Amino acid sequence: VSATTVTGVHCSRHHLNDPRARFCARCGVSMNQASLIAVTGTRPSLGVLVFASGRRVELDSDLVVGRDAVLDPRVARGEAKALALDDRSLRASRAHAEIRLTGWDVHVIDRASTNGTFVRDSASPRWTRLAPGRAQPLAPGMGVAFGPVTATFESPLRAR
Ligand SMILES: [Zn+2]
Repeated sequence: VSATTVTGVHCSRHHLNDPRARFCARCGVSMNQASLIAVTGTRPSLGVLVFASGRRVELDSDLVVGRDAVLDPRVARGEAKALALDDRSLRASRAHAEIRLTGWDVHVIDRASTNGTFVRDSASPRWTRLAPGRAQPLAPGMGVAFGPVTATFESPLRAR
């Protein structure tokens, strides 16, 4: 999977950032002092998925998530990496969902999985099932459930 170029702005220490960020995602410096001149560069990680098991997966490319995502056509073509779910219950599908990075945004897309992909807001106990194929934006702190396997999206963006 090759690196993706995005347009952003540099903080005063030359870290590339989302133009909407108020603080640098790398070093935390306020972006108020930044030049705010649009520059292009290699997209940094847009955050991590932190699984209930404690496993952390860096979001630096598109991912196909499932019990056996290695055979997925997008993975085979080198457009996405495979994220194998540790699911002994076998309730997650082989290619269950996709994490898609678009510009500076992270989306989750259900791949018509048998047991569904769900999201919930950080403050909410209620899971909402996604319609298959619909791109759901992830905000920092949101929960994602790939069938029985749950994770939280954590982003270095302190505020948007
Ligand atoms: Zn910085």
